[in-house]
Amino acid sequence: MSKPSESVKRRSSKALKPRPGEAGFRSWVMSRVRSRDTKPEMLVRRLLHGLGYRYRLHGEELPGSPDLVFPRKKMVIWVHGCFWHGHGCRNGVRLPKTNVEFWSAKRRANMGRDQRSALALESMGWKALVLWECELRDLTVLELRIRNFLGPPKSARMGKKGYNCG
Ligand SMILES: [Zn+2]
Repeated sequence: MSKPSESVKRRSSKALKPRPGEAGFRSWVMSRVRSRDTKPEMLVRRLLHGLGYRYRLHGEELPGSPDLVFPRKKMVIWVHGCFWHGHGCRNGVRLPKTNVEFWSAKRRANMGRDQRSALALESMGWKALVLWECELRDLTVLELRIRNFLGPPKSARMGKKGYNCG
């Protein structure tokens, strides 16, 4: 399997966007797919921040570079897109309309990597929470899961005012 070329030069103009079938199209798509500040992740980041949790991003030193890292707790949170990481939900099992083989291979590679990263982290004594894109709609449930996983945020323990508990 050949890797998409890393050496495609970044040019400023959007007009250079290659079309399907043209040379460079896959690299262009992949470069967009690889972009990390995806919407679901931003949503989780905002929520965590609002709840008073502090985290590091993309722990490059850890297996798989987890999205959100809580070093002192030895915990990580992954935010997975259902399609790209093969969730069991409707979006995760959906087949792409074009280039089925290519995208399916990409998905399988992601899933394999996720599994290896999870095992490696576990063996290093780290705990991981996986949040799927489709599970982010209900913020109340999401908040509860995060609290259950991480425990109370530091600021809450210190009795910081200004957070409305209802
Ligand atoms: Zn899903």
